[in-house]
Amino acid sequence: MNDSHAVVVGGGIGGLSAALALHRRGWRVTVLERAAELREVGAGLSLMANAVRGLDALGLGPALRRGGHGEAPGGIRDRHGRWLSRVDAAEMIRQLGTTALGVHRATLHRTLREALPASWLHTDAKVEHVESGPDHAEVRYQGPDGPHTLEADLVVGADGLRSRVRAQLWPRHPGPVYAGSTTWRAAIAFPHPIPAAITWGPGAEFGMVPIGDGQLYWYGALNAPPGGRAPDELAVLREHFGDWHAPIPALLAATPPDVVLRNDIHHLPVPLPSYVCGRVALLGDAAHPMTPNLGQGAGQAIEDAVVLGAVCADGAGGVPAALAAYDRQRRGRSQSVARASHVAGRLGQQLHNPIAFAARNTALRITPARVMLRSMARYADWRPPADSASSAS
Ligand code: FAD
Repeated sequence: MNDSHAVVVGGGIGGLSAALALHRRGWRVTVLERAAELREVGAGLSLMANAVRGLDALGLGPALRRGGHGEAPGGIRDRHGRWLSRVDAAEMIRQLGTTALGVHRATLHRTLREALPASWLHTDAKVEHVESGPDHAEVRYQGPDGPHTLEADLVVGADGLRSRVRAQLWPRHPGPVYAGSTTWRAAIAFPHPIPAAITWGPGAEFGMVPIGDGQLYWYGALNAPPGGRAPDELAVLREHFGDWHAPIPALLAATPPDVVLRNDIHHLPVPLPSYVCGRVALLGDAAHPMTPNLGQGAGQAIEDAVVLGAVCADGAGGVPAALAAYDRQRRGRSQSVARASHVAGRLGQQLHNPIAFAARNTALRITPARVMLRSMARYADWRPPADSASSAS
């Protein structure tokens, strides 16, 4: 055990993964979460092989494999159910050495939470100010009983899309913008076996992912103006997806209206010049909010956390140097995944021009399976730093 103390701002998947990665390196951690209750809002998640490897490095792989669904992605279909591209799942697993996982967000969040000492997690704690000095950093927050100040050797800004820590460290950065798409999602009981797959129509995508325990996560995405709300969101979905191939109408019919979540999708078109300022590091959506088209946002947050733990393995002594290494190892990769995800959305879900749409579908049909596999494996083929699993306690 070293005597180093970190404050993590935000108790989402990124913040809890960072706390766990530091815990495994002997750090003491305080997690400050502004919500009154520590929980994950949302339905399911696809965790690609890189994310699964990251969770393995955090010691959670076996629990999540039990709690989720080892997912062999089926491929991409058109709205009539004809395959545009199929994934050779066995070959993918052979190349990447592990399957992807479909998991309920609540399961992942709970598994992370339970791996941490409960006394480290503080809810109703809204961080208002972060400052980095030469010897320590300082965090000011509003707790349930009034204002508090904490000193730490390291502060991790894992406060998500609208990160206050990011805005404070880079006040002139333009911040996230709407990416042009809105999504609806739900996790439902659906005990019939179906493979994870996505379906594209003009300016529209529907995806389905088994997440274990007889549950299925589905999402629908449409090009739409931001900020919309409908009195009956399921009716909007039935209007767009109600005549798409089976089992899409059945999934919508099996969904209780009150479990449907609607979110506008944002990303960060101007990448940050650094993820680090002195003793403060950004992580997850605070550093690189991305569109969900490659299913990589949480995966990149988990990768960030594993690398942060590895570079901070020696404790508080060399935090600025450790964070410089964190920035070097994480910024290029996560920003290229974010860029690729945006492009995947433009060429996939968002494509609606009929000529471009037909040309894209034809190109997909004639692309050899091994080329598709290579492009899918490109971002999923990440390994944790060599000592992440072995030297951790
Ligand atoms: P968040 O989950 O946003 O957590 C930030 C936390 O910080 C929150 O709990 C918030 O309350 C707290 N906070 C904020 N401000 C403060 C403050 N001032 N003080 C204290 N606490 C604060 N990723 C995948 O890998 N696979 C997928 O399949 C996938 N699908 C997605 C589908 C959709 C529709 C969307 C929108 C995203 C998807 N993602 C996916 C992305 C993934 O959800 C995010 O990248 C990931 O959850 C980010 O985690 P985070 O901890 O960085 O941020």
